[in-house]
Amino acid sequence: MTESYCKVALPVPLRTTFTYRVPETLRGAVQVGSRVLVPFRKKSLVGVVAEMAEAAPEGTEIREISKALDLAPALTPKLLELGQWIAGYYLAPIGEVFRAMLPPQTEIALKRQIVLTEAGKALAEKLKEGSALTDLGGRESEFLEKLFEKKGVLTVGSGSKLGIEAVALERLERRGYVEIRETVQGRKRKTQQVVAWKPTDASASMEKLGEKEKRIRALLETERGPLPVARLLKLAHVSRALLERMLRDGLLEGWEEPIDPAEDPFDAGYTPPAHALNETQESAFKAIRARFELGEFGVQLLHGVTGSGKTEVYLRSVQDALARGKTAIVLVPEIALTLWIGRQCRAWFGARFEGVAVLHSALSDVERAREWWRVRNGQARVVVGTRSAIFAPLENLGLIIVDEEQENSYKQEETPRYHGRDVAIVRAKLENAAALLGSATPSLETYHHAVNGKYELLTMATRVENRSLAAVEIVDLRQDFQQTHQTSPISKTLHEAIAECLSFNTQALVLINRRGYSWSVLCRSCGASVQCVNCSISMTYHKSRNRLECHYCGSIQAVPKTCPKCDSKYVYFFGEGSEHLEERLRKEFPGARIARLDRDTARTKQQYQETLGAFAGGALDILVGTQMLAKGHDFQRVTLVGVVSADSSLSLPDFRAAERTFQLLTQVAGRAGRGDLPGRVLIQTYYPEHYAIQDAVRQDYLSFYERELHFRRMMAYPPFTSLANVIVRDTNLENAIRWSRRLSEYFSPHDGKGARALGPASAPLARLKKEHRYQFLLKSPKRSVLTKLLSGALAFCDANEIPGTAVLVDMDPLTLL
Ligand code: ADP
Ligand code: ZN
Ligand code: ZN
Repeated sequence: MTESYCKVALPVPLRTTFTYRVPETLRGAVQVGSRVLVPFRKKSLVGVVAEMAEAAPEGTEIREISKALDLAPALTPKLLELGQWIAGYYLAPIGEVFRAMLPPQTEIALKRQIVLTEAGKALAEKLKEGSALTDLGGRESEFLEKLFEKKGVLTVGSGSKLGIEAVALERLERRGYVEIRETVQGRKRKTQQVVAWKPTDASASMEKLGEKEKRIRALLETERGPLPVARLLKLAHVSRALLERMLRDGLLEGWEEPIDPAEDPFDAGYTPPAHALNETQESAFKAIRARFELGEFGVQLLHGVTGSGKTEVYLRSVQDALARGKTAIVLVPEIALTLWIGRQCRAWFGARFEGVAVLHSALSDVERAREWWRVRNGQARVVVGTRSAIFAPLENLGLIIVDEEQENSYKQEETPRYHGRDVAIVRAKLENAAALLGSATPSLETYHHAVNGKYELLTMATRVENRSLAAVEIVDLRQDFQQTHQTSPISKTLHEAIAECLSFNTQALVLINRRGYSWSVLCRSCGASVQCVNCSISMTYHKSRNRLECHYCGSIQAVPKTCPKCDSKYVYFFGEGSEHLEERLRKEFPGARIARLDRDTARTKQQYQETLGAFAGGALDILVGTQMLAKGHDFQRVTLVGVVSADSSLSLPDFRAAERTFQLLTQVAGRAGRGDLPGRVLIQTYYPEHYAIQDAVRQDYLSFYERELHFRRMMAYPPFTSLANVIVRDTNLENAIRWSRRLSEYFSPHDGKGARALGPASAPLARLKKEHRYQFLLKSPKRSVLTKLLSGALAFCDANEIPGTAVLVDMDPLTLL
């Protein structure tokens, strides 16, 4: 008998599931793990069936499921289990967890394909001849024949009739007569207009051109080449009308080109370097293979200095997993890296792009859903992606690689606040797979586990081909100022190094860890700084957009001419950002080809590809950008890396400030000298004595690890204790205070009993997105104690009418802001 009720997890901030009746017509189609459409309050919501049930709770009105959205459950049993673990560990509502695990909801475009298998075909032929002996029902036989007539494929939209009951169809599938696939139907091929500079036109003599036209010419002729119109508009900051006029005047020519995500222009003509592994790589790879041979869960840390050739080892490991009939996930910390590693994987494993799926948030919903279902249908066996790709619905998982495991971007900073690396380990455990964490600068937690033997440590201490690590030098900004009495973000030493780089025709990367033009607007008369109206944070000036922006909530303000507080005229812009740096470099090196890469210039996949492609291809001399540039890229002609300000990350009120600074600097240093040319790294700082900077200069991970571990032990921070950050927040200040006081009635008595409970205190970010914030910090050597304490706290909130949305729980927080 099939059950008539089920419990559905819905994407609402409530820590519970909801019972619905399964109507007769949907019995069999509603299974654990499938997505269903249900009425909830006055809305329809998509949820996931968490459990089947034979009865419903007494005394409540039970509503009916309106629609079953999947023929095969979207979430596999293992993923359901993983979701439950996440909900428990991070104290997140199960419905929100499942939503984070699912593909974007593009139901409208979702199509099912029912495909006749070879066995099905044979049977259908016999049925037609009337010579088949079968125990299939009449409907089922009819359906097979119909499918046969339709050349073996039936495509149906989510709303349309199948001509067969879901249960019967499933029976056919189980017996291997048909295959059910869900696909996202490719929309109509889209095209885009591309323009190029028309070289032959005599009217284009330079004198006649206006500033904007010159800029466009420079972009199209020398800096980038032909560009899609939309892209050009952004890069050149010009109007569409101007481009249209230039097209009419014959300065530009334009044509239509298809945009087809499957035909990635990035791949064209790419052949991956095929290196035989060197000895160091070989021994790491052997250890990984030995782990596979055991065929059981285990975690390995591949600690390899930058340029030691980790990617090569990853690729072989994936290859090995595939050869054993298993599937693999490769997590990378940045969208940009999915492009590089995705491309290599496609070249290695995916003839004609099959076999490899790429998942990240810069894909359109349709693209992302298409990739997701390709994975679910077994059409891709390798997944490369950012954080949420850890939920890729692969079956028979053998290997999960987490590249640059220490990266903060693996942590999701909204509900469910999971850490992708930690979830990767749990998933590997559930699936009995191997987890491989890779890094040049492992997080303290991970390295600690490796030292303690909980993880297996694999070390690659040298760069490939005996290349030396880049020489790192400190530029003491105090001395520089005494000599030059100038406050340029580019010191004299850095300037000279860039000039040298240009004269040798090699490339330079210049890093700054803030975007925008300047990150503070200050009044010289009264000292007031322009704050965001919603957050206790200063506004960042964006010059090209001519406005102030809040990087936390996105609010904008006009650029003030006078001080908003005292009306003085002496407002000044303080603290350089990437936009300022780019401007400065253009001024200091007028002949150089310069581009900037940060979240303002690279919002889409195409933009990343263009800029990175241009740099890798040698069409640029200098690339300026935020830490986005520090990670993983393998540029062969970079001989100089400049870090404009190493200090801003050190001064944050955060116990991870030193670790983060050390990691960033080491990673950045790793971008120089990767090819045949030696590299040089200049780090500008006001605190050259700090151990994070000193150890980064020597690129001495172990020394840093020892010192930092000592500090963590003294301060009782991870890895010696587990932490949880609890924020009580509300737009109304009184509510925030009242609720945090009330909550402290729960926490205080627990303080000192296996855990410390500190607070409530005003959070370092006292106001964020209009909400006032108070904070409790919980510490315990045992995480299970924290979990218990926290679930108790949430129950306490429910009982005391503290709204669930007002209390934010962050288990294993990366930052305490
Ligand atoms: P990492 O990720 O450890 O910083 P990469 O995997 O990016 O390093 O490799 C650095 C460079 O070395 C790449 O250009 C890669 O093609 C090259 N490489 C990798 N393995 C070898 C090898 N065995 N011999 C020569 N070059 C190699
Ligand atoms: Zn003022
Ligand atoms: Zn704000």
